[in-house]
This record gives sequence, C-alpha cells and structure tokens, in this order.
Amino acid sequence: MANANQTPMMVQYQQIKDQYPDAFLFYRLGDFYEMFNDDAVKGSQLLELTLTTRNHSSKNPIPMCGVPHHAVQNYIDILVDKGYKVAICEQMEDPKAAKGMVKREVIQLVTPGTQTDAGAGSAKTNNYLTALTKVADQYGFAYADLSTGELKVATLSNFDAVLNEAMSLQTKEMVVDTSVETTVTDQLHRVGILISHQDSAVVQAELSYLTQAVTQPEQQTVLQHLLTYIVTTQKRSLAHLQRAVVYEPAFFLKLDHYSQRNLELTQNIRTGKKSGTLLWLLDETKTAMGGRLLKQWLDRPLVNRADILSRQTKVKVLVDQYFERNSLQEELTKVYDLERLAGRVAFGSVNGRDLIQLKTSLTQIPKLQHVLNGLASDAFDDLMTQLDPIEDVTDAIERAVVDEPPLSVTDGGVIKDGYDATLDQYRQAMRNGKQWLAELEASERQITGISNLKIGYNRVFGYYIEVSKGNLSKLPEDRYERKQTLTNSERFTTPELKDKERLILEAEDKSTDLEYQLFVKVRELVKSNIQRIQALARAVSELDVLQSFADVSERYRFVAPTFTKNTHELAIVEGRHPVVEKVLGRQTYVPNDVTMPSDTSILLITGPNMSGKSTYMRQLALTVILAQMGCFVPAKSATMPIFDQIFTRIGAADDLISGESTFMVEMKEANEALAHATANSLILFDEIGRGTATYDGMALAQAIIEFVHDKVHAKTLFSTHYHELTVLDQSLAGLKNVHVGAVEKNGELVFLHQMQAGPADKSYGIHVAKLAGLPDVLLNRADTILSQLESSQDQHQTVQATATAHQQVQAEQAQTAPVKTVEAVAPAEPQPTAQPSEPVDQGDTQ
Ligand code: ADP
Repeated sequence: MANANQTPMMVQYQQIKDQYPDAFLFYRLGDFYEMFNDDAVKGSQLLELTLTTRNHSSKNPIPMCGVPHHAVQNYIDILVDKGYKVAICEQMEDPKAAKGMVKREVIQLVTPGTQTDAGAGSAKTNNYLTALTKVADQYGFAYADLSTGELKVATLSNFDAVLNEAMSLQTKEMVVDTSVETTVTDQLHRVGILISHQDSAVVQAELSYLTQAVTQPEQQTVLQHLLTYIVTTQKRSLAHLQRAVVYEPAFFLKLDHYSQRNLELTQNIRTGKKSGTLLWLLDETKTAMGGRLLKQWLDRPLVNRADILSRQTKVKVLVDQYFERNSLQEELTKVYDLERLAGRVAFGSVNGRDLIQLKTSLTQIPKLQHVLNGLASDAFDDLMTQLDPIEDVTDAIERAVVDEPPLSVTDGGVIKDGYDATLDQYRQAMRNGKQWLAELEASERQITGISNLKIGYNRVFGYYIEVSKGNLSKLPEDRYERKQTLTNSERFTTPELKDKERLILEAEDKSTDLEYQLFVKVRELVKSNIQRIQALARAVSELDVLQSFADVSERYRFVAPTFTKNTHELAIVEGRHPVVEKVLGRQTYVPNDVTMPSDTSILLITGPNMSGKSTYMRQLALTVILAQMGCFVPAKSATMPIFDQIFTRIGAADDLISGESTFMVEMKEANEALAHATANSLILFDEIGRGTATYDGMALAQAIIEFVHDKVHAKTLFSTHYHELTVLDQSLAGLKNVHVGAVEKNGELVFLHQMQAGPADKSYGIHVAKLAGLPDVLLNRADTILSQLESSQDQHQTVQATATAHQQVQAEQAQTAPVKTVEAVAPAEPQPTAQPSEPVDQGDTQ
C-alpha cells in the first residue's frame, strides 16, 4: 500500500499493481520491465534473475528485478507456461516529453489460456481458454482459441461431462463465475487448470454478433463471461473472433477422458508426449492448421453416417490417385498458418513478412484448385468452392509490399517503389541527397587536399565532415563549424551541409511516416477480409487432414470400413493395432479377427498375461475411432455398426481427481458404462474385478457380464483371469469365448498373440512368473499348490492343508540348518567388490 515515504513512481506502481493482485506486474521503466516487492522475490526465482533493491539506503529497501524490453516475450512465456499471469504495463507517453510522472497503463494481461505467441512446437496444438457457468442443473460451457478465433459453446448436463470436455481440450485456464461451486473448481484446479473468476459481463455492442445464434440462457451467460474476460485481458482488437458455434456432445462419438488417455490417442501415458500415440501415427499433415484440425477430429470422431462417408469418400479418392495426392502435399507445404495470421492481423501485430507469408499462401490456392480439378471425382466439389484465393488481398499485398520486407514496420523499407507517387518523391529526394553528399565529399577533398576526408552520419549529430587529427591544419578556418571531437579525428559541419541535412532528414522522416500509413492501409484491407481468410483456412486444413488420412492409409495398408445399417454385425478381418504394429514392425505383429455377428454381444477373452488381450481390445477401439473419423482402418476388411459411445476400463487405473482406490475407480467406471451404454455402444472391460478378493471379483464379473448381456446389449469385449467364467457360454446365447493362443515348448511358454475360438485351457500364470525370473523353489511350490487346488473340492481347506504341510517341512529343515543373522552373513569389514573387471558376456537374455 502507498505510504508517505514512497516516491511518486512507487505510488503509481502500487496503484496499478492493486488492480492485478494475481498477476506479475511487468512495469516498464526505460529499457527494462521491472518487478517489485513480492513479484520481484518470486519472479527472480522463477526466471533466475538477480534480485536487487531500490532505495537500498532506506530502512525498507524495495526488492526489485528486471528484464530487458527486447527479451520480454521470452520471460512472459516462461511465467505463463508455469501457470502464472503477467500484466504488461507500458509507458503511455514519451518520458522526455512527459510533464511529471510518465503515464503508464497495463496494455495486456497474458494468461495461460490467452497466450497467443507461444513459441515453436505449439503450432500444431490449439490453446483453448474455457469458461463455465451453472444455470439450474445445467452447465454452460464455452471455449475459444485466441490465436485462431475459434469460439464454441455447449450445454453439459453434469460435472463429468465438463471434466471430459476440459481434459480433452487440454485447457490450461477456465473462467468461472460464482454459480460454479467451489467443490467443482477445486477438482478442476486439482487436474492443473488455472481458475479465473469473471462475474460480470460487459461485452461491447460491436462484439454482440458473436453470440447472436445462441439462445439458451446458460450458453449466453457463459459466452458473455468468456468474452468479457477476453476483452478485459487483451485490450486489443478481436476482429478475428468467429461467431459462436453451438455444439452438442451427442454429435460426436462419446469417449471419456480416461479412455482417451488409456488408448493413447494424443498423449503417450508414460512420456506425456505425442510420440507413440495414434495422433503421431496419423499426422502426415503439411500445415500447422491441418495438424490442429487433425487433433480436433481425433478428439471428436463422428456419429453421423453421411458426414463420416463424406470424409471417407474423399480419402478413397486420394488413396487411389497417388500423383495428385503428392502434388497436393507439395502445394500444401507452402501454405503458412492462415488461421494464426488472421489472428495477428486482428491484433494489429502483423508485419511486412507476415503479409508476404499471407500472399505466398494465397497464391497456393489456385494451385490446390488445379490439383483438385485434375482428380477424377466430384467428391471435392464442396471443398473447391470454399477454396477462395481472395485475389483482392493478394493483389494489394503484391502491389504494395516488397518481397523481402524488414521485421519492423516503422523504419521504412516495406513499401515498393512505384506504389505511391508521394513516397516516390520523398525517396527521390533522399536518393538525390545521398548523391549530393557523395559529390560534396569529392569536392571537399579537392578543395582541402585531404584525401581521407569523409562525410558520415550518426543519429545524435546528424551529417558531418570528418577530418583526421593529422590533417586538421589543412582545413581552411572559415566555413567549418566543429561538431564533435574524437580521439583521432574531428567532425565538422558547413552551412550547405546543414541545409541539405535538413532536407534529407525531412524526406526520410516523411517517407517512413508515409510508408507506415500505407502499410496500415494494406493491413486494414486484409483485416476487412479476416472472415474470408478464416473460411479459407478451414477448407485448407480439411484438405490437409484428408490427404494425411490417405497417406497414412496407403502407407500402413489400411482399408475402407463398411458401416452396417440395420444390423449390429462387427467383423474385422486381420485387424491390427497400428501403433504397436509400427513399433514392433510389420513382420512381428500378428493380425487378429474380431468376429461378432448381430446376435453376439460379448466376447469373453481368456489367455495368459502378456499374451495380447489388452492390445486386442485397444485395437478394436482404435479401429472404431479411425473409422468414425472418416479414415481407413488397419485391417484386411472391416464391417462395423456406427457406435455412439466407447467405454473402456483398460490398463492401470489412475485417478488424478479424487484419489480413490483403484478398485473404487474400476467400479465407478464399470457403473458409468452400465448406466449409459446403449445397444449401439462399445464396452471394453479388461479384467474387471481383479482389484478385490477372488470370489468377490469373480462374482462381480459374472454379474456384470449377465447385466450387459441381458439389459445393455452393447458390443462388449471382456477379458478375464477367471477361467471359471468361460462356462457362461452355455447359458448366455450372446456370449462367445475366445482366447489368445500359447504353446509350451520344452517347458517354456511361447505366446502366439493369436486369437482363437473357445476358452483358454490354462492360465499360465506360473509360466509368466517364471519369465519374470521368480526363484525356482517358489515356482515349484506354486505348481504343487496349483495341482492340489485344481483337484480339490474345498479350496479353503486345501490352502490350509498345503500351508500346514509346508510349514512342517520348513520347521524340520530349520532345525538342521543354523540360523544366519545379519552379523553372520555380513562381512566384518568392507571388502573390495568382487565384480569382475570385464563385463561377462551373458548372451542374449531376451
Ligand atoms: P495382456 O493384456 O494379455 O497382458 P498385452 O496386450 O499387454 O497383454 O500385450 C503384451 C505384449 O505382447 C505387448 O506389449 C506386445 O508387445 C505384444 N503383443 C500383443 N499383441 C500382439 C500381436 N497381435 N502381435 C505381436 N505382439 C503382440
């Protein structure tokens, strides 16, 4: 808080800081942005800056640290990437011209969800700012990407749906109002989302068109709050924001975020990266916008048959026409990020180079049209009409902007000669002036006889005549006026030079001013075409994703799936898990069928651990997702119904949100599936019930299978350890047993990774334990117990009997062997290690 001892500057600082308590305030002071007080202490740690103090002589020196203005973006990015907000406070007037305190204002609040300038590597991902409100029992949910202008809104019926949207959009920041309970915001916060509060809505009239199509009250409210937050943090033009599009989660294949994560669609579970995911396999896009759209499509596969087939037909055309596809890829490579360029145009931050990128991209459009025209198909007719080359923009840039403009838009050199007559005049004057200076130099050399006399220029002193110290005596006294003294030379001016200097500098000033004005005009013209550029960007992205699908489909031998209409037949012949296949290699991967006629709803999968059960299930899920994205699928042939939802309970249960036990999460997910699945859903249950005692687990598993079979009728793959369950095929007509083949060779277990009809004959758990290297005595013991359990009626009694017998043997052995204590075992003194110095060749332990 301000106090009497504070300097006027610190009073100003504090007034501004008080408006941004939850942000780092970067306070512009000359060539630096400074942080003070707590911001400085914390900021210096986070940014590894030196912490100093202001007024160090005073009793309470103020902690301070700063970053140079030219490097500020880097520091802002670091803080924002770590989840903080940064308020950028600028000097609003020239300090030299200011009377009293320089006026300062926050010109932008950069937050994790509104960051648009994030560095390399982020081009293929969207940065979504989300917003949430609650009206009655419904959630209004909205999101925007400030760099592309995308704006969407939906009504979600419960918190799980909110969480799913938030997680699959990978939002870093959510704007909420007081209608959202703290229990909800706490949970969102726990999964790493920054919560920002926005309770009032003051969207300017000029932005009201954005929400025109929205009628639902909760959607209106959430959009108003989101837009208000954007306006108040950005404080800049938002002309590129697109009209809000209402979407319904029901338009898409429903897949909760656990499943998205478990299936490793876009994120590798171990590394968190893209490598090793389905997205990684699919991404042959050539533009950053195509890359982003691909991820959006992967997050939201379709359910509408016509929409799916419309994509699939185009992919087919591109798969079949290799040369055209190749040319398409080549032309796409030269298209820059039109969506983000449009964003920068709106923000007013484009420079000459951006405009050249825009022009280059637009001149690619006729080439893309040409390639599409050459396709023997009308499948692309709709996309063709959207490929608008926006010639007026291309022409304007072509006429006005030089081919290799400088980064700065205020220092001249951006506008072409011949574009504007006045500018040409100024430039002529500058050129004449330069010519005149050259002539002056020559004549001065002649008059004075000083051959190394030269005419130069610097920002502070302007034009000068420079004479080295040794030659000073040769200079006539009269005309030369001393300007500056250097170690080895003196600089002078003359009345003629002063005159010309004024003319040249004036021309330069006027010329750069005029250039900037002309540049801004071109920029405004581009800005008035933002919506066309965005529509074009959408079409280009779509084309890019479709060619990527075609490329991948051919490269990995995918086929077009057929969707059944009135039956629930699922028949995948020689299906593969495309990512595992890519990693293992084509030779190693064993393809598998999934055969489920209309009247089969459950496949009960048995087989040893590590034999490929969960890979088989994931393979089916990925095949369905690929199919419903409009892509081909990894199989020899594939027939399937269109699914409405996929429920999975596969792999390690991890629960970031509630910290519940694995078994609890497992049961909750099972419940989720049983409650919401329909006959059109796909359920994948991997060893449900294993998290509890054998009998509980088996009982639950059986009851779940019966429930799915009798009530839900969803296509279900159920893998289990409980061999006892395989007899269910006798009572449940819609259940079939399959197992993964394994054979024993010389007492060793060999997995075939091959699905076969019928139940597995053995569980091979002990073999797997042997593979894991458990001691032989233990394995032999397990074998003995197993054979007794298998032959007994009362398993409790058997366990007890075998255990008692075992203990007796142990006790007898113990009597004969002396007890070894730690002291008896450990050497008395540290010994040199007995490791051989050369590594022993262990052979191939695989
Ligand atoms: P399970 O679920 O039965 O324990 P996984 O599905 O996790 O087994 O598979 C174990 C390993 O077996 C996988 O990591 C993979 O390397 C290999 N595998 C699985 N399916 C196949 C297949 N069809 N062809 C070749 N290798 C496979």
